[in-house]
Amino acid sequence: MPDSAMIHLEHTYGANNYDPLPVVLVRGEGVYVWDEEGKQYLDMMSAYSAVSHGHCHPALVAALQAQSTQLNIVSRAFYTNKLGLFLQRACELTGFEQALPMNTGAEAVETAIKAARKWAYTVKGVPSDQANIIACAGNFHGRTTTIIGFSTEPEYKNGFGPFSAGLQTIPYGDIAALEKAITPHTAAFLVEPIQGEGGIIVPPTGYLKACAQLCKQHNVLLICDEIQTGLGRTGKWLACQHESVQPDAIVLGKALGGGLLPVSLFLTRKEVMDVFTPGTHGSTFGGNPLAAAVGLAALHVLEQENLIERAEKLGFYFQKKLKALNSPLIKEVRGRGLLIGVEINSQYSAKKICLALLKRGILTKETHATVIRFAPPLIITEEQIDFTIQMLEEVINSVILSVAKDH
Ligand SMILES: *Cc1c(COP(=O)(O)O)cnc(C)c1O
Repeated sequence: MPDSAMIHLEHTYGANNYDPLPVVLVRGEGVYVWDEEGKQYLDMMSAYSAVSHGHCHPALVAALQAQSTQLNIVSRAFYTNKLGLFLQRACELTGFEQALPMNTGAEAVETAIKAARKWAYTVKGVPSDQANIIACAGNFHGRTTTIIGFSTEPEYKNGFGPFSAGLQTIPYGDIAALEKAITPHTAAFLVEPIQGEGGIIVPPTGYLKACAQLCKQHNVLLICDEIQTGLGRTGKWLACQHESVQPDAIVLGKALGGGLLPVSLFLTRKEVMDVFTPGTHGSTFGGNPLAAAVGLAALHVLEQENLIERAEKLGFYFQKKLKALNSPLIKEVRGRGLLIGVEINSQYSAKKICLALLKRGILTKETHATVIRFAPPLIITEEQIDFTIQMLEEVINSVILSVAKDH
């Protein structure tokens, strides 16, 4: 398998900015994907939560196919009969007044940054070019040159400077640090309700609620990055709803495209969205009718198939089973809904465990050196979770044995 011609081609003609597991996927359906040799794998990654609906969901493929024969790309120079319906549904389901469509998550975050800065100057009264945005250590908000200015990961950042001014990071989960960091020039606090790429880090209970109060008190926009945690992944439509928090704005992406297309949104109240006027912001592909049709169908399927309740119930089941493994190799099981991280003791390698799981037909990827991510499509069943647990148990036992032999 590792000498596959396709792997060779990617290595020869592709940039070396990823380190994929040695498997070449050719087909997907539901929670499963298949490789070149027809071997089946259970997808515990779901493309970092972009495939919450499962691969090739029939209703979403049908929506894509139907729209693709009608109208696909016209740019925002014209209205279409799809975009308004999509924006309306997204606003209704999340409780925001208006939404601005983009494609990737990073573009939606960039939109949030631009909105926050312009809001600071035109509404809050921050002096020109002095607005500050606060984010958290360990964050992941995307890969643009502005956004990586927030990063505390040397890998994401080193060699890509100089970075944008007016960005600041504080410790995650630390409300006192936020209080200390806020100044009259603070435009916004940008935060993930659970840090996904940071290692599935769940902040202390009450953190988001306290952030919301503090932001309100100081006229600072609370912007939640729900690109990974949103749309049911954690067992609520939005992860901030676990603390009954309605932020000033959110960004959505990943699962919004139904596992078929990049579709993202910046959502906020009208007073903030009004900072954008014709010509101030845009995207050639953002809000195209094909993406709008797929996004609308993606929202519909989440609701229709009760995937949010399912994520809550099965997430609870999955975490319970993981904790019951009670292995000396596992340091902690954490997460919410079907966004789960298993932290292993640092003498073991998460990557090695992922490779052993791959052999047994489970696809997942480590985040940092010691966290294994379990974030399957929300349509997963208890039996499929049981299978995963069984395979993980086998892998853990063999890893413990082999490490014992090394000593
Ligand atoms: C994936 C992700 C992004 C970036 O999305 P892209 O579509 O890769 O640009 C931003 N924020 C969070 C929390 C993410 O998980």
